[in-house]
Amino acid sequence: MSVDTVSLTGWGRTAPTTALRFRPRNYEEAVAVVRGCGPRGSIARGLGRAHGDAAQNAGGSVLDMTGLDRIRTIDAGAGVVVCDAGVSLHRLTEVLLPLGWFLPVTPASRHITVGGAIGSDVHGHDHRTSGSFSRHVTEFDLLTADGGIHTVRPGTPLFDATAGGLGLTGVILSATLRLQPVATSLMAVDTERALDLDDLMTRLATGSRRHRYASAWIDLTARGRSTGRGVLTRGEHAPLHMLPAHARRTPLHFRTGPLSPAHSLVPDLTPGGLLGRMSAAAFNELRYRRAPRSRTGELQRITTFFHPQDTAPHAYGLPGRGGFVRYEFAVGDGRAETLRRIVRQLAQRRCPSYLAVLRRFGPGGPGWLSFPEPGWSLAVDLPAALPGLARFLDRMDEEVAAAGGRVCLTADSRLRPDALAAMYPRLEAFRQLRAEWDPNGAFRSDLSRRLSL
Ligand SMILES: Cc1cc2nc3c(=O)[nH]c(=O)nc-3n(C[C@H](O)[C@H](O)[C@H](O)COP(=O)(O)OP(=O)(O)OC[C@H]3O[C@@H](n4cnc5c(N)ncnc54)[C@H](O)[C@@H]3O)c2cc1C
Repeated sequence: MSVDTVSLTGWGRTAPTTALRFRPRNYEEAVAVVRGCGPRGSIARGLGRAHGDAAQNAGGSVLDMTGLDRIRTIDAGAGVVVCDAGVSLHRLTEVLLPLGWFLPVTPASRHITVGGAIGSDVHGHDHRTSGSFSRHVTEFDLLTADGGIHTVRPGTPLFDATAGGLGLTGVILSATLRLQPVATSLMAVDTERALDLDDLMTRLATGSRRHRYASAWIDLTARGRSTGRGVLTRGEHAPLHMLPAHARRTPLHFRTGPLSPAHSLVPDLTPGGLLGRMSAAAFNELRYRRAPRSRTGELQRITTFFHPQDTAPHAYGLPGRGGFVRYEFAVGDGRAETLRRIVRQLAQRRCPSYLAVLRRFGPGGPGWLSFPEPGWSLAVDLPAALPGLARFLDRMDEEVAAAGGRVCLTADSRLRPDALAAMYPRLEAFRQLRAEWDPNGAFRSDLSRRLSL
């Protein structure tokens, strides 16, 4: 097992801290790390795509799970896969898609691990119909603080605390996932532009029943009558008959990158490309104008449709030194006014945001600290160095909490602990379970210390 001392951050590249990193290659090595961890404890880490400090542990141990990356069995008849927790969703897609199977929940980055997907109980564009990731997990093996390995199934407190539990109940070693069948590896996509926030919300809330997947990009730099304008994208897995004749010979072929340059949502963003020279407002204007007013049935690759953020500006580290903060919150259907107010305030402050994604959520899952709840969710990336950002977001937290909403913990890097209890009503149950299973605090992270989890 390799061991080194490293400085780690989340994807937002704020608040680096140093930890002893272990990279176990089998269960026994993982058990040894947990048993041997010192008073600062240990935390599992996948591919480090959580934006904040959930997978960091200053002065303690971090278990880099990417060395446990075997796909153990695939039942290609029933659509079930058993794999190690360090396998990435990208790898699973590469292997499963040619067999006609696809993950039922796909977040906007495929470069995350199965352990990270359960630890954050990730959601995708299909939350209304599919729920979040853990709904499709039939069991996982969990290494707990006493060094024991337990097979954990849905309907148990340990499952509910671990789904979205940010690695604080133990280390997920492997998982069994249910898959969904698909006929092709392409998506049939409808795109439409919305003139302002009300237009966007109306379009997103209605007319989505035909589509399994839906989300919208908001131009947060637009102001006045255009405040909250955006582009709505909805899609389905393309049926075989939609494919051109040449593509029907290999309908399940998995390829990355756009089908054609015209399918790229964003212009050339590489260092030295457009972004270095453009303001967020100009960039967003260009992005809005490039989107079709209305287009139906466009064929796109899976990666173009689901993972545009994997090639978004900060993938290149461009917008702002000092990293960026992802502010992601959800409010219920009856609280859409809170969403409107927050969008208006972001626009008025001229926040230089390149990325703002609006989604609809369906019923929440069993995870005690899972983020989704029915209604609206908005995720915004903002430069961490923006003057006054901390106080501004504290005020947004208050608005969200007062509306009965919540901030997403895996994305978070700055929430205050006093805001947490109102947002997550099952927090006390989570703390009690941790006290029972991990009385000495073997599992800790920068986030757990910051939020007194
Ligand atoms: C570009 C981009 C787009 C994203 N889009 C979405 C989205 O659409 N929807 C969404 O829900 N999220 C989204 N995310 C967030 C991301 O999916 C989650 O943070 C996910 O948990 C990252 O997985 P990871 O393997 O990188 O885990 P890490 O970031 O390394 O860890 C995340 C959390 O999971 C825990 N964890 C990791 N592995 C294990 C394990 N084996 N056992 C127990 N706990 C573990 C860690 O302790 C930590 O608390 C996005 C992130 C990026 C960078």
